[in-house]
Amino acid sequence: MNDMPRRITLAEWDQRYAELRAGGLSEPDYGGPLRRHVDEGDVRLLKLRMDNSAAALRLWNFLLTEEDRLRCAEARGKKIVGTMKDLGTVPVMAYSFSNLVAFYPDGAWWLPCLLEGGNELLAIADSLGIDDSYCPVRAMLGAFVSKKRFPIPGLLTCSVGATCDDFSAIAQRVEALGFSVFWWEIPHRRLPEPGEPAVELPGGFQAPAEQVAFVKSELERVLQALETYAAERLSQERLSDGIARANQVRAALATLRQVAYTADPCPLPALEMLVAEMLAIHFCSDHNETLAVLAELLDEVCRRVRTHTGVLEADAVRVFWVNPVADLRIMNLLEDVGGRVCGSDYLFCHALDLIPTDLPPLEALARMALADPMVGSAADRAARIAADVRRFGAEAVVISRIPGASHCAMEGAVIAEVLRAQTRVPVVEIEVPPVTDAMMPTLRTRLEALVETVREARSRSSLGEESK
Ligand code: SF4
Repeated sequence: MNDMPRRITLAEWDQRYAELRAGGLSEPDYGGPLRRHVDEGDVRLLKLRMDNSAAALRLWNFLLTEEDRLRCAEARGKKIVGTMKDLGTVPVMAYSFSNLVAFYPDGAWWLPCLLEGGNELLAIADSLGIDDSYCPVRAMLGAFVSKKRFPIPGLLTCSVGATCDDFSAIAQRVEALGFSVFWWEIPHRRLPEPGEPAVELPGGFQAPAEQVAFVKSELERVLQALETYAAERLSQERLSDGIARANQVRAALATLRQVAYTADPCPLPALEMLVAEMLAIHFCSDHNETLAVLAELLDEVCRRVRTHTGVLEADAVRVFWVNPVADLRIMNLLEDVGGRVCGSDYLFCHALDLIPTDLPPLEALARMALADPMVGSAADRAARIAADVRRFGAEAVVISRIPGASHCAMEGAVIAEVLRAQTRVPVVEIEVPPVTDAMMPTLRTRLEALVETVREARSRSSLGEESK
């Protein structure tokens, strides 16, 4: 069996799976060949190249079986909570209860990619007036109406206030269709006035203390709604335990990111790292399994680092990636042209920061919610990205825009300007729709040019060193 790390196609995974099974691979109950997900409609897998490790197999199977897991949880008597938009706060509260399972209906964002067109989901959204001038999250509307994807949650929460127009409009449409929504507010984060009491947030942003107090009062309302739904009181101690458990996932991801993004050769492809990072926001509906999946990935990454093996050439150009890609295939493309991801901001970096444990739990969660890079200014977000670009030693930045997304009409330009001034690394903005096949040559050229620019800068700098 060839165990050298590689990115392989789905057809190669068929063979690889058979080999792993013959070699004694033991799998969790959601395990199995990746091919079955294609048979169930996730045809985009046919165009991806995925890591060939058993750890990656488990990661993909975990991701792609979430809807089954939610239905099983419901059948076992668990109550399902749909948490919309806050990306990382309400699930921490929900998973502190013994009988709640939370997920983000927003995850339907990736269905137009996975299904290569969104199947009937986008047609439903179109018919309801949510056309392709909206971002791919509009697939969520189709998922609610068709009831064929995730189970319809008995409680739906949605954060408003500092929320993009797309999501705000679509969530209101969801409610208008009869799905009751519990709204709670996160205000736009502003800088404290001179002399105004201020609080430092996880990740380093500052916010006025009165904004933190306001969000805490909103989270108290959310907690009451969860308690009523769960028919269970939640003590401060149990909420603190829930925070500690969320922090286990965040700590595991911090280690994985540190090792995978800094080792050379690159030990794990960008695609698997993107999927792994996404586990932070609601644990893919199973907290314990998330920890197990991340532990296995970290073991694999550490093994590769110890043996000086990786999935890409040594010295691949180190790229910091901003925003999730609507088409997962683009993460492959960067690597095909000689780049690698060495750091990321996929719109939820606040869900990767440790939640403070030396504060009352709702105060800690309020600070975390306000640390969301998307609820503050683009300049704030750019400053955090610039710091991470330096921390991970990135040589270039890709800002990937999302067609129709109201959050990033001008944000990319602001971030690019700040990065050019503060980091002096080349920055490129690309637009990535859910299925990029027709645009592949253009996108390839843009990324190749970026990689070549960095390589030329490297050679100029090494010639300069030699002539000293
Ligand atoms: S506009 Fe941006 S933030 Fe809003 S749902 Fe779409 S991708 Fe997410």
